[in-house]
Amino acid sequence: MIESLFQRFVFLFILLIFSLVLCEVGVAKDAMIKRSQYLMGTLVFVTGIAPDDATARQAVDAGLKEIRRLEELLSTWIPESELSRVNAAAGQHAVKVSAETLNLLDHSLEMDRLTGGSFNIALGPAVVAWNVSEKGRVPTQRELDAVYSLIDLSQLQLDRHTRTVSLARPGMQIDVGGIGKGFAADLAAEVMETSGATAGVIAISGDIKTFGRMPDGQKFVFGIQHPRKEQGHVLATIELENEAVSTAGDYQRYFEQDGIRYHHILDPKTLHPARLAQSVTVIASRGVIADGLDTGIFVMGPKKGMALIERLPEVEGVIVDAQGNVFVSSGVKGRLQFQ
Ligand code: ADP
Ligand code: MG
Repeated sequence: MIESLFQRFVFLFILLIFSLVLCEVGVAKDAMIKRSQYLMGTLVFVTGIAPDDATARQAVDAGLKEIRRLEELLSTWIPESELSRVNAAAGQHAVKVSAETLNLLDHSLEMDRLTGGSFNIALGPAVVAWNVSEKGRVPTQRELDAVYSLIDLSQLQLDRHTRTVSLARPGMQIDVGGIGKGFAADLAAEVMETSGATAGVIAISGDIKTFGRMPDGQKFVFGIQHPRKEQGHVLATIELENEAVSTAGDYQRYFEQDGIRYHHILDPKTLHPARLAQSVTVIASRGVIADGLDTGIFVMGPKKGMALIERLPEVEGVIVDAQGNVFVSSGVKGRLQFQ
């Protein structure tokens, strides 16, 4: 875990250097501030660009503060968070939540609809049964059967007037691990702009949101990690402008048992790790869309997943299937630089 965090740190650092060094050798009139902090269970990197140093610093601080605020609302690792209170009240009563939490749940339901149920935030009890983020253990079929009836999004009720959320059955648990980081990156970008940043990058693990351009007028450049090579080995690079990019992969969090890799993205139909892809990268204008879709499309696999990407306006993607074949959506073909 520590090692993989360290590797992620190194990888993200390389990515950021890759894009930001370009900026610093340019005719940089604007100020650029970079900071990282451990938030949402991972290292978060925020870069702010503004006409002066103080404004850039203020914007970066505001962005990080916003992510911390959202973590306190949404993290199921924090017992007092809004979502923890919703989960604790499952089968009992509705819980009043903030507009942000309601909005994220709305987006999550939309992702469920778009992916035909492959993206499902009611998977909480199955995520707990696998415990991939910590020790990891293959649950028995009996254990999975016992939670199967709880993975039912129709039992999640949102009342937009009273801003309340309830889970109809005891034991149900919402888990927004597959969409929350992209959502937080979007809101962080908004507060950074309000604070005077003209451009910026928010990278929460593999969920990255950009706005504006670098001081020399160049777009931000990002690398898509090769799913089967060492951290930092890039499959392809892409330039982004006012876009988000998010990758879901079977190499990010997993454990091995009897030579089989068990990773953290579960198929809601089987409650086992999805097996049709090694990684899915989605590019969209908003982080919440990119993050929600990468997880859902990972479950759908390359065929149905790519068909969905092609159907959606302003959404592009790169899918590496289980055999390592790379599929690229039509709108992104000319934009990728393969390494
Ligand atoms: P990360 O950036 O943390 O790797 P991903 O976007 O890849 O996150 O989503 C993985 C997380 O989403 C899991 O750790 C789990 O909490 C949750 N999850 C797993 N499978 C699904 C699914 N089918 N639908 C929605 N969320 C899921
Ligand atoms: Mg995701």
